[in-house]
Amino acid sequence: MLNLVLFGPPGAGKGTQSEKIIDKYNLVHLSTGDLLRSQIQAGTELGLKAKTLMDQGILVPDEVVIGMIDSKLSENRDAAGFIFDGFPRTVKQAEALDGLLASYNESITVMVALIVPDEELKKRLLHRGQTSGRPDDQDEQKIKTRIEEYNSKTAPVAEYYRQQNKYVSIEGVGEIEEIFGAICDAIEKEA
Ligand code: AMP
Repeated sequence: MLNLVLFGPPGAGKGTQSEKIIDKYNLVHLSTGDLLRSQIQAGTELGLKAKTLMDQGILVPDEVVIGMIDSKLSENRDAAGFIFDGFPRTVKQAEALDGLLASYNESITVMVALIVPDEELKKRLLHRGQTSGRPDDQDEQKIKTRIEEYNSKTAPVAEYYRQQNKYVSIEGVGEIEEIFGAICDAIEKEA
């Protein structure tokens, strides 16, 4: 199995690159942001609770996203592999993911981190906000909070995978195809 963590701050290009990676390697895409937004759309209790936090750019509780990933893993037992997009976002989530995968005798193959400067992220998110309809993409304060959440809670997750020798960083500014090529090289070296 190829189990890839695609890592990077909001606006780094994880969604764009995920689509290309899925096509090429036939992986199941697990984006906790997308899963949460479908809960909001469906008007579930979980969705309602998550929305308040997401609208402010604050992370939802670890148990909520870990539970969602747990059920998606068990629903997709025949998958060739998974791409985790926007998850894990805390060290606690990373530890839980290792535990869940271990129960299937699986593990993370590699973490690919997209590196993009903060100023470029803000520009991209505001631009995306003009078409995405996402309230958290349309307000500079919310974007700032999301980047701060990333720097304080999520950035340490890179160190977690570095200690396991699974961390690869890639320049996330440039042509989409070039970045994709660099990601594929990293995957094929580790797989
Ligand atoms: P994203 O679509 O990945 O940018 O996520 C949008 C929002 O959903 C984030 O700002 C968080 O509020 C929430 N979220 C998504 N994934 C996670 C996660 N793994 N842990 C906690 N909150 C998350």
